[in-house]
Order: sequence, then structure tokens, then C-alpha cells
Amino acid sequence: MIRYDLVCAEGHLFDAWFSDSASFDEQVAAGLVACPVCGCSRVEKQLMAPSVTAAKSGKAGLAAETAKLRAMVRALHEHVRREAEYVGRRFPEEARKRAEEDDAKPIWGEASGEEVRALREEGIEVLPLPPLPEKKN
Ligand SMILES: [Zn+2]
Repeated sequence: MIRYDLVCAEGHLFDAWFSDSASFDEQVAAGLVACPVCGCSRVEKQLMAPSVTAAKSGKAGLAAETAKLRAMVRALHEHVRREAEYVGRRFPEEARKRAEEDDAKPIWGEASGEEVRALREEGIEVLPLPPLPEKKN
């Protein structure tokens, strides 16, 4: 048995049980399903439920995406801290030095926007590290 939420041509809302969706179609086509309020037999399924579900899952999907992004940024920070050497404000000169070496250990540190631009002009690849998402206590 399936319960359908129905609406008649006059806009009255009601529900009714059917053995399956084919029998719903048959009974409606035969005019056997009548609105309990006005007796009108022009009824169809209410379409509200699917759109409410879509709106809910859309919001949940966005929250999941945000959580996924936060986790990625955290993972990136952990990876950099584990694999790369922290050189702080010496980053621009260290980056230039290591650009000359073949298998230099990766580094991370601080550089101004101007310094990053200068490094890139010299052909040295510099990747910005996105700020860590704020922790809520
Ligand atoms: Zn009605």
C-alpha cells in the first residue's frame, strides 16, 4: 500500500491509500478518487514534498562541502608542517637558494605579496597556504 498526499482542482488537500502507483493512476483516470471536501474527482499528487526534501538536502550538502574544505585545509597544513622546513621570514632568500638545488627539502615560511611576486617573476613556484579555519571552542 502507498499513501499519496493529494490535491483536488479546488486546492483541497487530503490523502488516500492505493495498492500501488498504477492503481492510483487507474482510479484517478476512472474518476474514482474524489475530494472528501468538494467531491471533485480532478485530483493529483501534491508536489510539495519533493521540493522541501531538495531544499533540505541542498543545505546539508553545503555544510558537508564546507566541512570537507576545512578538513582539506587542515590536512594541507599538517602535511606542510611535517614535510617542509619552516624558515620564517627568510622564506624569499631560502626559496631562491633552494631553486638552485635539485633535490632541496621543501620549505615554508612568510613572505609579503611583493616578495611572492618577485619570486614568481624569477620562475620560482610559490604556493599560498590558506589560513587555518578558526577553531570554535
Ligand atoms: Zn476539493
